[in-house]
Amino acid sequence: MFARMNPTRREFLGSVAAFSMFPLEIEKPELILHNANIFTIDDAQRRAQAVAIANGRFLAVGSNEDVLHVATSATKKFDLAGKTLLPGFNDAHCHPASSGLDMVVTVDCDLPSIAAIQGALRERAAKTPAGQWVYGSKYDDTKGAEGRMLTRADLDAAVPDHPAAVQHRGGHTAFYNSAAFRLAGIDEKTPDPTGGKFDRDPATGKLTGRAADAANALLEKHQPDTATRENRREGVKRISKAMARAGITSVGDAGGGPEDLLAYQDAREAGELLFRVYCLIRYQHLDRMIAAGLRTGLGDDFVRIGACKLFADGSISERTARLSKPYEGTPNYFGLLVATEEEQYERSRKAHLAGWQIGTHANGDVAIDQTLRVYQRLQRESPRHDPRFRLEHCTQVNDSLVARIRALGAIPTPFSSYVYFHGEKMHFYGAERLQNMFAMRSFLDAGICPTQASDYTASPFEPMMALQSQVTRTDTKGNVWGANQRISIEEAIRVGTLHGAYATYEENNKGSISPGKLADLVVLGRDPLRENPSTLVTIPVERTMLGGRWSFES
Ligand SMILES: [Zn+2]
Repeated sequence: MFARMNPTRREFLGSVAAFSMFPLEIEKPELILHNANIFTIDDAQRRAQAVAIANGRFLAVGSNEDVLHVATSATKKFDLAGKTLLPGFNDAHCHPASSGLDMVVTVDCDLPSIAAIQGALRERAAKTPAGQWVYGSKYDDTKGAEGRMLTRADLDAAVPDHPAAVQHRGGHTAFYNSAAFRLAGIDEKTPDPTGGKFDRDPATGKLTGRAADAANALLEKHQPDTATRENRREGVKRISKAMARAGITSVGDAGGGPEDLLAYQDAREAGELLFRVYCLIRYQHLDRMIAAGLRTGLGDDFVRIGACKLFADGSISERTARLSKPYEGTPNYFGLLVATEEEQYERSRKAHLAGWQIGTHANGDVAIDQTLRVYQRLQRESPRHDPRFRLEHCTQVNDSLVARIRALGAIPTPFSSYVYFHGEKMHFYGAERLQNMFAMRSFLDAGICPTQASDYTASPFEPMMALQSQVTRTDTKGNVWGANQRISIEEAIRVGTLHGAYATYEENNKGSISPGKLADLVVLGRDPLRENPSTLVTIPVERTMLGGRWSFES
């Protein structure tokens, strides 16, 4: 076992270039990690045993002997005893600031039953001053013991006097009590707004409590933002600690605003920011950002302004994504588009002309088609070099969409863990459609550069779950969905590291263990290449390093 994890020097030299060093630095290594099983994700040198680190970057990568040779008397040496070392993971599309804030100010409704959720909300309501909202987060309608959705009546029983809103973990639907609807002046006679829907009881026409996509805006107007700057900084502290523990070193915050940028900076100044963040900015803030002279790329290796974020349709986990064929079992239901093509074009054009990268949320094939038409038109009318248009999620594709994505050089950020984690929802899409959902095999075969993404809170952010889901396409009950889209473990690791860096124009700065790049890495308890694919999720993360410092130690 030991020998297998530690190739002999001859085996090692037989398989890789032995040594490379970042030539411009005349640095002395501060730290050397040696005796490791290193997958570099660098084609110039795919395997290594040791790395030397100086000033937060890899100074040298190679065999134990060669790297230890550059040590000085001041260099600390750390023997990894054959443990596997990978570049740190990049969760290209998630919502750290908002989910961190949820941890601070909302009731966690990731609970096994409606009864448990009611109990937690009741407890919070008892401590909440009259007239203030009670908020829940991370509710998942298909995971409760009762086998049905939360209703307005459930919420009324738990929270009779305060307005209450429970957000689905997918972020596109929420569940309200009667007090919330009363406050917002919404009843069964209220029409559904464009791009939104209030669910109604088919027998009585009464509101069930569930509101989808744009319908939520009618209630959100009545929810004052009571979160403080301190709450937001605390939220970033908590979520970045949790993500560091999972092996994540970089994230794309896919729904940021100025308050989130500030929270990341506050956390960083307090020494609490444990990942690098590319903060996509919602288009509602774009005018202010442009007026201030800001655009994609401004910032540094820790906090950087990302793409302008737009929306085309609804959600996969909440079944509001806009599909060309109806959802299984509901013949006339196709999901929701939340913007017209013309609206999307106007918003995108403003961002494109101002030098912003664009990331458009597009799940269903109809939404992806519309978004690609907008991107193609922008490049036709106002071509820009290397715009790296992003398709956030880009869930359901077909051959012609894949060809257009490739031709544009666009970047999909598919849900990496959905097959594994949301298996019980896949029947809404059906086995046939699943062959073209989260289509990693199709993207890679076409030469496209997809990323790893959890969309947390929509699914868990643990990278090991993403690897297992993409390699096996198997859910927790053993059902296989779209086996044709399986990718190899090596491919999944590359997607989760280097591709994430490419999606933010940082592939020369991070994403692989290469001399000169940022020293971001993860140490695993077992080697994923030798693991049974069905147990990848159980591989422990032992350590995470961010810029040459341990951000997590087990
Ligand atoms: Zn998202």
